[in-house]
Amino acid sequence: MAQVRVRFAPSPTGHLHLGAARTALFNWLFAQGNKGKFILRIEDTDIERSSQEMTKGIVAGLEWLGLEWDEGPYYQSERLNLYREAAQQLVAKGKAYYCYCSPEEIKLRKAKARSKGEFWRYDRRCYYLSEAEKKRFEAENRSRAIRFLVPGQEEIKFDDLIHGQIKVKSKNIEDFVLLRSDGYPTYHLSVVIDDLSMGITHVIRGDDHISNTPKQILLYEALGVPLPRFGHLPLILGPDKKKLSKRHGVTSVLEFRNQGYLPLAVLNFLAQMSWSPGDEERIYTVEEMVARFSFDRVSKGSPIYNLSKLEWLNHQLINQMSAEELFPVIRENLIRFSLWSEDLDSDRKDWFLGLIGLLKERSKTINELAKNCRPFLSDDFPLEEEAVNKYLTHPQLPELLDKLKNDFEQLKDFRPDLTERVLRQRAEEEGVKAALLIHALRVLLLGMKVSPGIFDVLKYMGKEKTLQRMKKLPTMVTQIQRRE
Ligand code: GLU
Repeated sequence: MAQVRVRFAPSPTGHLHLGAARTALFNWLFAQGNKGKFILRIEDTDIERSSQEMTKGIVAGLEWLGLEWDEGPYYQSERLNLYREAAQQLVAKGKAYYCYCSPEEIKLRKAKARSKGEFWRYDRRCYYLSEAEKKRFEAENRSRAIRFLVPGQEEIKFDDLIHGQIKVKSKNIEDFVLLRSDGYPTYHLSVVIDDLSMGITHVIRGDDHISNTPKQILLYEALGVPLPRFGHLPLILGPDKKKLSKRHGVTSVLEFRNQGYLPLAVLNFLAQMSWSPGDEERIYTVEEMVARFSFDRVSKGSPIYNLSKLEWLNHQLINQMSAEELFPVIRENLIRFSLWSEDLDSDRKDWFLGLIGLLKERSKTINELAKNCRPFLSDDFPLEEEAVNKYLTHPQLPELLDKLKNDFEQLKDFRPDLTERVLRQRAEEEGVKAALLIHALRVLLLGMKVSPGIFDVLKYMGKEKTLQRMKKLPTMVTQIQRRE
């Protein structure tokens, strides 16, 4: 087999949504697994709808996922001459013809046919123009497009890598436009010319292009060149079984980054939506995915988008990663929220790694991990109103906590076994349940009801901060009561 060359060819008219990212991933995996090349091509010929900002976002999304390309990005807007020449050549070979019909005329003809209940497709009027008529139109300087002359009686067949054999009759295809009158190519022309000139061996794209493939095959045939293989990936559906869209929440890959998902979790999520890398659900490394990827394990059916699966994968991954591995990711996140201080890189690094180790198990996303770190790094953290009302309003608490504070003050070391002993002794002496003090401390220190074991929390909070926050009890209670 010739060297595999695949491409990802997004139109920068929207974000890198999930379907597109999955297409990029499968192309990339296939290239990697076959020691092939992965090419990035930006299909920006729709000048009105394309934007540089979208291109930047798509590129950033691919980079974030680690889907590096070997060639490109190529921009179709910089290759217009290539398409124009190809269209002219097809005219010269008698495979395409000039069409002088204006869009308005076509609309009228279509409407007329429809009003008679007739089906309309381009009627080849310009193909049958006499030489004299053509001359007249040229002399009038009429604008002209180039249409492809679809052969009448062909059966177009291709063996789709995912769907198997697909057959379409050419008589159902109208003479489609290749080059618009403004000189811009249609998608069919530019995609074929580019796939050809870039030596693409496998065209892997979304199911929404399946009906375009027969037209493109006709073009390859007209050009007299061999076909690439085609593979169409099933469309991702929302939980309501409709095409996935903004309505269903997050659909752009970078949005997942902003919400604290890790690239490897997103890659597994995308991969496992249509393909099963193995028999069990787990996080696969990129290397494992590359080694296992093949089109025969890609299913034809449309997968349903399920955010809780991504949460689960991300949670698994965070748990599997060591604190050292999580460090750079959480660092970046804390910088974004202005919670980072230099000494976390140096003097307090070990402390911080220990803290990550303590909190990661409870964090489904990096943002959640950062949120859980917040009370350890800053005095500005949210208080859960319900937690304050439930655990800080016991009438005996001010006195009890005052005593406990004195006990803690005596401790030279804030080791978990020591703080635990002191707290339990105090509870016993006062005839109250240790839980009363534990719950209160948790809310005072962290603002919330649930956390890792309180004595570990105390260790990482440290004596000074703990005592400081214990003094704040009256203020916290009045703060919340005032809010009510
Ligand atoms: N530019 C097309 C799109 O974004 C993809 C073209 C192709 O893969 O053939 O849908």
